[in-house]
Amino acid sequence: MEIIKHDDFYILDDGRVREFLFVDEMKALLIDTGFEDDEILKAVRSITDLEVEVILTHGDPDHTGGLRYFKEAYLNKEDWCLVSEDFKLHDIKEGDVFKVKNHCLKAVSMPGHTYGSMAFYDEDNGLLFSGDGIQKIGPIFMFGQKRDLALYIQSLIKIRELVNKDTIIMPSHHDFPLDVKAIDHDLNDIVGLKDGKLKGERHPFMPCLIYQGDYVSYLIDDHSLASINL
Ligand SMILES: [Zn+2]
Repeated sequence: MEIIKHDDFYILDDGRVREFLFVDEMKALLIDTGFEDDEILKAVRSITDLEVEVILTHGDPDHTGGLRYFKEAYLNKEDWCLVSEDFKLHDIKEGDVFKVKNHCLKAVSMPGHTYGSMAFYDEDNGLLFSGDGIQKIGPIFMFGQKRDLALYIQSLIKIRELVNKDTIIMPSHHDFPLDVKAIDHDLNDIVGLKDGKLKGERHPFMPCLIYQGDYVSYLIDDHSLASINL
């Protein structure tokens, strides 16, 4: 696990997925817990011994794999069904605020990648922790029962309107940081896909098609395609 100090917070990156850790005098705040084999607590304890508050961008296993190390966590209720372990979860709703140091992280609901996907917007510091919904390269997983392409497009439009133009985006996967143009690029590709401009190719081993856009790729199955009535 690579630990990168970025301004006044830490990025924990195993090369597959990244988490974000903030520390003040009283507590630490961790966004996501990585894969099960990440030993996230070891990485956190190399930085701080303080109590850790955990907030989750969504319920996929590459973000919730390390939950067992913590007593409780915040996750939007729509994604509780994705967490298999019996675990103490608190709901996150749009507008909830998590404060640590001089960061005020406001929860922004962005359903689509999962129904309970949340981004955390730190307006004062110009940062958006976007989970999986905004990425460069990708692929963004949009197959399986818990995805909704139509909602995903609406969420991208909403977040584009919400964030200031100089916001730095911190996605959980692949290239980072991104600037706000990434939202337009993702939107352009997913709308192109919806309009039939991208051709899907069968994935070599997963039950889905790969749609390669100019900026990002999407993994999509028939169920997700039905949600936008292609
Ligand atoms: Zn992910």
